[in-house]
Amino acid sequence: MYADLCATFDLIAATTKRLEITSLLATFLHTVITAHPADLLSAVYLCINRLCPEYEGLELGIGESILMKAIGEATGRTLQKIKADMAEVGDLGEVAMASRGSQKTMFQPKPLEVGKVFKVLKEIATISGGSSQKVKVDKIKGLMVSCRGNEAKYLVRSLEGKLRIGLAERTVLVSLSHAFFRARTSTSRKPTDDALKRAEDIVKGVYMELPSYDQIVPALLEYPIDELPNRCHLTPGIPLKPMLAHPTKAISEVLDRFEGKLFTCEYKYDGERAQMHLLDDGKRCIFSRNSENLSAKYPDVLARLDKMCAEDTKSFVLDCEAVAWDTEKQCILPFQVLSTRKRKDVKEENITVQVCIFAFDLLYLNGESLLRHTLQDRRALLHAHFVPVPGQFAFAKSMESNNLDDIQVFLDESIQGNCEGLMVKTLVDESSYEPSRRSRNWLKVKKDYLDGVGDSLDLVVIGGYIGKGKRTGVYGGYLLACYDPEAEEYQAICKIGTGFSEEALTTLAESLKPHLIDQPKSYYRLGDAKADVWFDAVQVWEVKTADLSISPVYQAAVGLVDSSKGISLRFPRFIRVRDDKSPEDATTGEQVADMYNRQQINSAAGGGGGGDD
Ligand code: ATP
Repeated sequence: MYADLCATFDLIAATTKRLEITSLLATFLHTVITAHPADLLSAVYLCINRLCPEYEGLELGIGESILMKAIGEATGRTLQKIKADMAEVGDLGEVAMASRGSQKTMFQPKPLEVGKVFKVLKEIATISGGSSQKVKVDKIKGLMVSCRGNEAKYLVRSLEGKLRIGLAERTVLVSLSHAFFRARTSTSRKPTDDALKRAEDIVKGVYMELPSYDQIVPALLEYPIDELPNRCHLTPGIPLKPMLAHPTKAISEVLDRFEGKLFTCEYKYDGERAQMHLLDDGKRCIFSRNSENLSAKYPDVLARLDKMCAEDTKSFVLDCEAVAWDTEKQCILPFQVLSTRKRKDVKEENITVQVCIFAFDLLYLNGESLLRHTLQDRRALLHAHFVPVPGQFAFAKSMESNNLDDIQVFLDESIQGNCEGLMVKTLVDESSYEPSRRSRNWLKVKKDYLDGVGDSLDLVVIGGYIGKGKRTGVYGGYLLACYDPEAEEYQAICKIGTGFSEEALTTLAESLKPHLIDQPKSYYRLGDAKADVWFDAVQVWEVKTADLSISPVYQAAVGLVDSSKGISLRFPRFIRVRDDKSPEDATTGEQVADMYNRQQINSAAGGGGGGDD
């Protein structure tokens, strides 16, 4: 029943204790497994606020104006009143619940079912065309009139695309494994922590390889948990979340970390991550870092796939970087060139920016997952089963040495070759591919680490400042935020006004125009930060900074370094828009705190840093 799910959401929202949240949700999911198994998939999707696997790209995020209209019409209140309540309360979910609660109804509506609510949400997300707004409003109204108690609150928040109860996806995954463990073991025995942890590891491990509840939930309903890895595993056609790297400040840090281990250095190409898949039936696709299907952007790359494969290569998943390529000079072009390539419906005959694919890992080959093989093995298979095609497909350039000077020369060469620096990876021990992890077995060394704070940050634009003087007519600066996935909130981190070309100022202002909102979202944690206008959290920018400092104004990473103060950036500079990152992939508060702490260690060891906002 939807009411039970919403009651569980309320209980979860009332606590911050992870174990308690896990147990509350596991209890609810256990009831669904035993009493309404057909609703389980819908229940899981409602908990993680998604409609389908990420790579299918269907999203809710219904605009505020449509929601207000639907709430007004469903509860018999004027739009004006809804707007006034919203201005006061700041949360449309609460406004919907209060509006519905104060409404006099003649008949008690039929209770809402989880499966029905989910089905209608999915229908709403797929509606398009001329009268789509009216159809959406009608469908939302249809659900709203059946809402009781707190249901309207969560319905509206689901429609907005944010539940804001502090329920992270990995907690849902753990709760799901606990619920199944309970459902599959005799009730008289209390599970040991070890047994629970084992179930948890199995479900989490499988999800990392095959991030699709559409496959995992039915398999869990049908088979014992132990059987899950045999039923669900890495499958070409379904993108796995890529492995990510840890930033380092200098080559000497790499040598310290990897002491006594075999490791390899590769060029860090500066383009776009491209996960290439070939299925047994010949179907082929490319996915972004974010699991977005890029096949329509790279028809030319898909067409060259046969040339890249050795004769016995029938199916694979390759991890690569797509890089802009100068066909005349036969060399790599900077990322800025790649960013001018059209993203959709690219026709091979009209391509202006050619790309070369640099493959650095092979994750699946001819029916077998290679994730647990060593990098040395994976690389050997990559070289044996693929064929370089000049200017179109190449293996990432690599070098093995533990001599600091050799690595420095290789780093310099990579930068001269228009790369970003190096990726340094364990080659044998602890070198399995770790999907979705920012692993310590992959370290990145960028050219500008040596003079900056380390890595750049990827931040979300949430506010703007009206431009004056030369910047009249565009925004003079912007307010940026990092993301806290646990609290599901954007935490203001700094104002930014440098690094923009005049052209960028115009295009950025244009691209943000459709995302202007009347007031900051309730899930923006602003502290004392202010802005002239507010934006919906949609755009991610890469930003560099001189250093990070504790700030009484900003709230980024609050509670991690200081109990009430956040962290801010000094002299932030705009680098580029990160189209390949969604706002929820932005730099997290935890990463900001980590950067701050490392800066403190480095400055204690001799070097700049520090300062107040
Ligand atoms: P950024 O790209 O800004 O460094 P990120 O968060 O997208 O950050 P990181 O893990 O920090 O990802 O850096 C790894 C990225 O570098 C990969 O996502 C990939 O796109 C790119 N890359 C380029 N060359 C390589 C390589 N040889 N091995 C692995 N990744 C590479």
